[in-house]
Amino acid sequence: MNPPKRWSVHLSDQEVTPPHSPKRLARTKAALGPFKHRHVAELGQSCVCAECAEERIRLLAILFNTYHLLNKGAPRAADVVTDLDLVARKARELSEALVSLNDYARQRLQIPRKYEKSDHGGTATLFKKANIADLPLPGSRTQPASNGLWVEKLTALEQLARLMSDTFAQSRGAQEQKDADKGGRTNLFKQQYGPPARILVTGAWHVYNSFKPEQAKGTAGSPFPQFVNLVHEYATGNRDENSTLQYWITKIVKPRRRNHQLLQKLSALESRLDYLQTDTAPQDNTDAEIAGLTEEISVIRQEAIDIFPKLFPSSSPRKKRPKKSTGN
Ligand SMILES: [Zn+2]
Repeated sequence: MNPPKRWSVHLSDQEVTPPHSPKRLARTKAALGPFKHRHVAELGQSCVCAECAEERIRLLAILFNTYHLLNKGAPRAADVVTDLDLVARKARELSEALVSLNDYARQRLQIPRKYEKSDHGGTATLFKKANIADLPLPGSRTQPASNGLWVEKLTALEQLARLMSDTFAQSRGAQEQKDADKGGRTNLFKQQYGPPARILVTGAWHVYNSFKPEQAKGTAGSPFPQFVNLVHEYATGNRDENSTLQYWITKIVKPRRRNHQLLQKLSALESRLDYLQTDTAPQDNTDAEIAGLTEEISVIRQEAIDIFPKLFPSSSPRKKRPKKSTGN
């Protein structure tokens, strides 16, 4: 029997590996060049040699393929409810079928026990696997019939599945309604991780920014969007320019750059502050400088906090809506 097709987070390497194309990989890599540095193992992700460029592109392509595949056909909250309700219903049906077995049928299911020891091959295992001792037992002259553990467990399973379905539906209700109002096609996976195209653009930004700090611009046709499209083409083998990618590039590039600048500034100011606070021979103006730095750091921190939601914009590009984007 073939198992029914179902959505699962597990994907094989084969499914997510980009189609073999050294040419596409080389072209994508060239967008990060020229490479002036040799490999430095200690630098890890910050190494900007040609080999690391290739490796990071490969990993990004795999990441995108993974999220893209998982997003495809991922269940909505309503599907989880349907699945759980089905289990509840079937558990009840099976428990009812067991309870309604007449004593001859109950007897029949117990007969194999007699043969268990002398039986050859897999049948004994089958009796064990089906746990026949827990099946409903027929009555005898001295003892009334009993329904057994199978029925008890099925009843508990039905109740569990129903309870979990109800509480899940309640907890998701508000979220589903919100998403339905936005008119977007959504699912539980996308709600958790965001759209795959956004994940690709964000990942590409990090890679690009390592090799070409603060050079990424969002303008269509400029080097960064070109790089994103090359990664997409390498990952999928699909040569078509992807308008969804450009949508996310436009949304993400500016706040990403600003966020990067803020974090760098913050790091520099914090090390200066650290130095002043532990300085064993402070100058006359040290206290004033510390006060100034503390104030500046707090302002920058607040700006970084404010910018954070813009790094992960949630709205999706819409196909049929002439209304202007609200820019969130
Ligand atoms: Zn390297």
